[in-house]
Amino acid sequence: MAKIKMTTPLVEMDGDEMTRILWKIIKDELLLPYIDLKTEYYDLGLEYRNETNDQVTIDSAEATKKYGVAVKCATITPNAARMTEYNLKEMWKSPNGTIRAALDGTVFRAPIVVKGIEPCVKNWEKPITLARHAYGDVYKNTEIKVPGAGKAELVFTSEDGTQIRETIHNFTGKGILQGIHNTDKSITSFAKACFNYALDTKQDLWFATKDTISKTYDHNFKDIFQEIYEKDYADRFKQAGIEYFYTLIDDAVARVMKAKGGFIWACKNYDGDVMSDMVSSAFGSLAMMTSVLVSPSGVYEYEAAHGTVQRHYYKHLQGEETSTNSVATIFAWTGALRKRGELDGNKELMDFADKLEKATIQTIEDGKMTKDLALITSLKDVTVLNSADFIKAIRETFDTLS
Ligand code: NAP
Ligand code: MG
Repeated sequence: MAKIKMTTPLVEMDGDEMTRILWKIIKDELLLPYIDLKTEYYDLGLEYRNETNDQVTIDSAEATKKYGVAVKCATITPNAARMTEYNLKEMWKSPNGTIRAALDGTVFRAPIVVKGIEPCVKNWEKPITLARHAYGDVYKNTEIKVPGAGKAELVFTSEDGTQIRETIHNFTGKGILQGIHNTDKSITSFAKACFNYALDTKQDLWFATKDTISKTYDHNFKDIFQEIYEKDYADRFKQAGIEYFYTLIDDAVARVMKAKGGFIWACKNYDGDVMSDMVSSAFGSLAMMTSVLVSPSGVYEYEAAHGTVQRHYYKHLQGEETSTNSVATIFAWTGALRKRGELDGNKELMDFADKLEKATIQTIEDGKMTKDLALITSLKDVTVLNSADFIKAIRETFDTLS
């Protein structure tokens, strides 16, 4: 059979450790035999990042802006231990952070739902997508440990020297103090990314903060969302038959627990950090989560939600067999290929992505899976496969589909 042709390249960002091993097997077994794969390749493996003083990460982000779609393998974020392990010149920043900053994006995470891996919350029938604002608030804070009695003030000095001043607290003894910020520009980007993603995936959008308590800060988020919605999106939402609504974060949590799923939940940075781990664990496994960074200018970067699975990689290096789940990495590829197909009007490529996802899910539902899933599945008599054999089993299923 003739291979599927591509017109525009995908930006391919290779990564580290066990996921780098999976990356190659996925390409060899599931992509290259079927697609005339066109990618612009960037090696974000830690060794090459170190060699290029991290320039390769910046270049890959720029290429993503140019071509519009990227697929990224998990990468190591260096810490003290990695400094010695890889003999690094510097403790390079998280590639995800660098790419996110360059694309000004919002991260959307959604569980991959299969029969036999049931969510802990029994009424969740459809996936819940978490949209996390990835800038500011407590992640860019300034903190003071207050040594003793005194007055704490919040002061803003504008460029012309005029000041706005508020008393935070008159301390009578020791305490703590924190300053946080966000910008209208970043909140606007976040809101647009959420509205676009809701239209793209035809799902309702929920947004929640604590504006009853934070009457200026959180209220500003609420107002920006509302203003943009009314101005640019209300009509389009109506046409698509979807809904946007705002509620308080505690009300949202209560409603999420009772909901059936099938919607997007937009959260401020901290809420999104906490809630995405809760939602993903409740759906079963981090290895069954898709993750896509969407920029307001319509640029997409697909990845897996998990890391490089270091523990498995060390076993692999010692010649031991591994059973690492490649589903999230496969779905990063299918997400990117489908989006590339959509942008290029390449239906064959989009159909390929759909079929590969179907084959992946069917393989698991047929009882062939990796160890992490075998431990939590409700299916009986399952076959536990090693990392490579699981991918080969998906290929066999794929070839049986019409
Ligand atoms: P991790 O790679 O997500 O793995 C943590 C544990 O979760 C694994 O040891 C494994 O548990 C389980 N697991 C995760 N993914 C799995 C998969 N696909 N199949 C089977 N089991 C899976 O997190 P980490 O070990 O804390 O981090 C390793 C490296 O990844 C770090 O250097 C970190 O900087 C990096 N990281 C990168 C990204 C990214 O690029 N997006 C995100 C997070 C972390 P068992 O060992 O019990 O089997
Ligand atoms: Mg977290």
